[in-house]
Amino acid sequence: MKLAIKGGNPVRTEKFPAYRIMGDREKEALCRVIDSGVLSRFLGVWHDDFYGGPEVQAVEREWAAFLGVKHAISVNSCTSALYCAVGATGVEPGEEIIVSPYTMSASATAPLVYNAVPVFADIEEDHYCLDPDSVESRITSRTRAIIVVDIFGQPYDRDRINHIAQKHGLYVIEDCAQAPGATWKDKKAGTLGHMGCFSLNYHKHIHTGEGGFVVTDDDELAMRVRLIRNHAEAVVEKAGRTYLNNMIGFNYRMTELEASVARCQLDRLPDLLEKRQENCLYLNDALSEIPAIKPTFIRPDTTHAFYVHPLKFDRAVAGVDRDTFIEAVKAELPLTELREGEGVKVSSGYCKPLYLQPMFQNKMAYGSGGCPFVAPWYDGEVDYSKGICPVAERMYGEELFLHELMRPPMTKDDLDDVLKAFWKVWDNREELL
Ligand SMILES: *Cc1c(COP(=O)(O)O)cnc(C)c1O
Repeated sequence: MKLAIKGGNPVRTEKFPAYRIMGDREKEALCRVIDSGVLSRFLGVWHDDFYGGPEVQAVEREWAAFLGVKHAISVNSCTSALYCAVGATGVEPGEEIIVSPYTMSASATAPLVYNAVPVFADIEEDHYCLDPDSVESRITSRTRAIIVVDIFGQPYDRDRINHIAQKHGLYVIEDCAQAPGATWKDKKAGTLGHMGCFSLNYHKHIHTGEGGFVVTDDDELAMRVRLIRNHAEAVVEKAGRTYLNNMIGFNYRMTELEASVARCQLDRLPDLLEKRQENCLYLNDALSEIPAIKPTFIRPDTTHAFYVHPLKFDRAVAGVDRDTFIEAVKAELPLTELREGEGVKVSSGYCKPLYLQPMFQNKMAYGSGGCPFVAPWYDGEVDYSKGICPVAERMYGEELFLHELMRPPMTKDDLDDVLKAFWKVWDNREELL
């Protein structure tokens, strides 16, 4: 059978269905806020409204209850959430924070906002989260925290990483933008470290356009996050706080509009997540029957939220390289409604290890003089050279691929078309040589 990439007929041309998760409840919620006339009630002073309006406070209670955590603090993105969380650790300029190279860039740039230095540790071969051994090897007397990422929806190795953190007195910030509702034993992702950071951007499981949360069980950390979210410097005095470390406030506030939508979205999450997991597990089993494809291995005692479905490709078994294979699969499949501009939702490599970005390669963040990588208050020498995280580099360059063709309302027939495309390319791979 001639492959589509060689001019044959593709497996399918009819678009896959859109992931449409906005409905009447969101419309009603937005109308309720608009009718109230108050689209945001925040005040950046020490006052009842320092905590935001009724929708903001309600969604914070509901998000906290869903996760089983004491505090949920809404913000306008997960990027802001990470910035707040890093600031709340009290990190000093010139201290180091251990980060993952294989994640959305904000998880690794957050330390820079406080003139702290990101230090990259390598990832696990099977789960792509930070590798505890590599993390431990990167700890110095300057290390303040570890930003773990529940990448692709897989919770990090909580037992080992938290143990290392405790031994060295480090904070653990969990970036669970990709893992809302994932679990470790009877706890939810986001509650596994000292603080958890969530995203509500359009690409995530549930969304409000833009939005996010920081969650924590620690009263003091929660207060620092609330202050950093909302003009700390103008609030601390009347609030009677003497702790001024990193108390430059930003405006990271969520409006009543997003908060009202977030409440509806949270109600939808369990069902959306379950369907996505079901679809992914079906594809995971079926795709791993192709000899060159290795499935997602789910960490014991956890559930995986499958933000995307990551798989590995073995070139030695296939006789053709990953990128060639995946390009051929994409040629067999259609676009997805609403996301036509992004191409077929199958891709190779995820992201280039972040230390290979120009900012790290040139050690240039604030201004042009190398701050904070080369600064009088930093007495370390951070290494961003190629080769520092070989597993991440190999996943990016050769092995990992992923797809998003499992979001509801994909039907069994839709999923079977995805499988057909992979099998067709596998069976006819000599055409690619
Ligand atoms: C999406 C994402 C972020 C950033 O989220 P925003 O809400 O867009 O700022 C951070 N970390 C990870 C792992 C993400 O996937």
